[in-house]
Amino acid sequence: MAESDNLALYRLWRPQTFSEMVAQEQVVFPLRQSVITGKFSHALLLSGTRGTGKTSLAKIFAKAINCLDPHEGDPCNACEICLAANDGSLMDINEIDAASHNSVDHIRRLTEEIIFTPVRAKYKVYIIDEVHMLSQGAFNALLKTLEEPPSHAVFIMATTEPHRIPATIISRSQHFQFRRISQEEMVKRMREIASSIDLAIEDEALEVIALLSGGALRDAISLLDQTRQAGAEVISRDQVLQLAGRVPDQFLSETAQAM
Ligand SMILES: [Zn+2]
Repeated sequence: MAESDNLALYRLWRPQTFSEMVAQEQVVFPLRQSVITGKFSHALLLSGTRGTGKTSLAKIFAKAINCLDPHEGDPCNACEICLAANDGSLMDINEIDAASHNSVDHIRRLTEEIIFTPVRAKYKVYIIDEVHMLSQGAFNALLKTLEEPPSHAVFIMATTEPHRIPATIISRSQHFQFRRISQEEMVKRMREIASSIDLAIEDEALEVIALLSGGALRDAISLLDQTRQAGAEVISRDQVLQLAGRVPDQFLSETAQAM
């Protein structure tokens, strides 16, 4: 069995460089430039709907600013730092899920840790996912560090709900907004993925997957992955709808009305 058969398509196709990102040029371009010039904020806020690339981009940026051999701002994915970051063993890049680590104590521990210089990398990076879930006390503790961050510290905060972030945090961050990924861009990416695994699927089926996913590429790729299990020779539009638990005729008349 090939490796690609075991791994979820979404993980297999997760972008590892700025160049591999789908869409989001309004975020990718300035962040890549900031890696090249070495001038970036110590607090970044990435906001936008789910499945649009926020966490992927956070990881790429964290790697890029620490990479020993970056190419045009892109991480090389071959040096010891990139390799350790990719297999999750680099202690200097930390990912925190604020949904389950939202207390003052969690953030206080983090702000105590961040004072110490990084172990191997140049920058110590904290990626805080779903940052809007932090408690008020936790935000206050974080704010103190954001006001005077150590020069080796970088915070990357990601959120689907920027309106729930205190203004004091936003004003100390550089804010990047992600947009929903267009139908065309999603279909193009899925076609690329399907052909890489020899999955035969009708164009109409890809369009339906894109519609069902509402701009979230991660959801689209997961649904595409499920069609692999359908075992059909060529995946059709109706098979996709059945997999998604939708009644084909009803779905089509709904989308026709919406257009
Ligand atoms: Zn590297």
